[in-house]
Amino acid sequence: VTGTTSFAHETLPQRVVFGAGRSGELAAEVARLGGRRALLVSTEQEAGLAERLAVGVPVVAHFTGVRPHVPVEVATAARALAAEVDADVVVSIGGGSTTGTAKSVALTTGLPVVAVPTTYAGSEATPVWGLTEAARKTTGTDPVVLPRTVVYDPELTVTLPVDLGIASGLNALAHCVDSLWAPRRNPILDALALEAVRALAPALRGIAADGDDLEARAGCLYGAYLSASAFAGAGAGLHHKICHVLGGTWDLPHAATHAVVLPHVLAFNAEDAAPAAGRLLEALEPRSARADVGTGAGTDAVAALVRLYDDLGAPRALRDLGLPETGLDEATALVVAAAPADNPRPADPAAVRALLRRAWSGAGPVTRSQERNAL
Ligand code: NAD
Repeated sequence: VTGTTSFAHETLPQRVVFGAGRSGELAAEVARLGGRRALLVSTEQEAGLAERLAVGVPVVAHFTGVRPHVPVEVATAARALAAEVDADVVVSIGGGSTTGTAKSVALTTGLPVVAVPTTYAGSEATPVWGLTEAARKTTGTDPVVLPRTVVYDPELTVTLPVDLGIASGLNALAHCVDSLWAPRRNPILDALALEAVRALAPALRGIAADGDDLEARAGCLYGAYLSASAFAGAGAGLHHKICHVLGGTWDLPHAATHAVVLPHVLAFNAEDAAPAAGRLLEALEPRSARADVGTGAGTDAVAALVRLYDDLGAPRALRDLGLPETGLDEATALVVAAAPADNPRPADPAAVRALLRRAWSGAGPVTRSQERNAL
């Protein structure tokens, strides 16, 4: 264990209920908070599911206008509805976009949120909100948006198509990896992040093999919660800064963008964060299960992640997600400006552009020494 001599850590106040079938306890959880007038929030697609789960919840209105990345006009409409029906609690049932819409209501009204997540994005475990206006995404942190209660029911994620589930699970894995070098990292958050990796890697292989495997679905959801708890404390590292730039400017699909970028950021930092890379390797592939002990923690962690991606058939290229090649210069400038000052390896423009070019084209990730050897 490293870094235990001096750190600051904040534990976030939230009740977590976890287990197959436990979404049946939603009404009791809303009552526990004293909720008498609930605003239900879901997508149109998940409206039927939301209404079934909300049986017994005192719903006074159902907002189904959720859209990706919470456009400001969607937040405004949801807030207006909450005010019109005099809601005293917001119940969100859905993925990160739905949770984000509920958070946007909490941000201006202070209403408590009860979240029932149906993807592995992890927004429900963070006090981070996001809003989009005119192709620019703004995010902020406010304790008032952190859901008071989260009900995790792996049965609800069985309907998540396997490719979306894999991308979403890799979004969770990205929370873990980035937490190891993010600005407010500490040993408690490292423990959460690495336990999340130990849960996510086998569970993702499990859902790739069989999307109906409930134990694997539960592993993904458990890992998602832990990963987001680590990210909530550690803040955004280089990986999240890159994805924020790409998602906000070119409106790329959130989870798949995280999935594509992650191996490249790990390769970028690995040799300059060798202890973190070593522990990540051990979490991805426990020593007992590894065929050989390779050449160095940095390169080996990248290779282990690539093996996971191969097994999952994970997305590899930003060009397939809608990023134009002509956007690489602008993306480089935005990423360099946003990169955390204490990233393990300085984010200089040439190196960042090379990283983005590889992620755009679908080329394999390259570490610092591999990059030097290729010159
Ligand atoms: P999403 O919520 O947009 O959902 C993606 C798609 O999956 C939608 O079409 C949705 O209807 C569908 N879906 C959701 N659950 C399903 C299920 N169980 N079965 C079938 N279909 C299902 O995507 P997401 O990746 O969950 O969330 C992305 C958003 O969350 C982004 O806006 C991102 O910025 C935000 N986010 C925020 C935080 C934070 O801490 N604030 C963390 C992670 C993600």
